[in-house]
Amino acid sequence: MSDETQVKAPESGASSGPAGQSGPGGHTGGGRPAGAPRPAGGPGGRGKFFRRKKVCKFCTEKIDAIPYRDVRLLQGFVAERGKIVPRRLTGVCTTHQRRLTRAIKQARNIALLPFAARH
Ligand SMILES: [Zn+2]
Repeated sequence: MSDETQVKAPESGASSGPAGQSGPGGHTGGGRPAGAPRPAGGPGGRGKFFRRKKVCKFCTEKIDAIPYRDVRLLQGFVAERGKIVPRRLTGVCTTHQRRLTRAIKQARNIALLPFAARH
């Protein structure tokens, strides 16, 4: 005769500990030395930064020599006051920007473009 004794281990539910009280205002002052000055990192003020895919218009259209007679084209790179728009705004590559500048100056000389806006 086999005597099988199945003893069911009673699950001792000892999970609810007494450590459940986290009262507000319990300032646990650890062993942290207060007064560690953070390096002055200013507030992140980088808001106006556009990362747009700008490809040089002339490169894409494979325009090698910029026609200085094409006023409409040039006007796209000249601000209202007659200033040449900087490259960072137009996205024109360095090479073409130089050619563009020359073209604009030529156009000015033959009075296609204004030198400056009048007041
Ligand atoms: Zn280009």
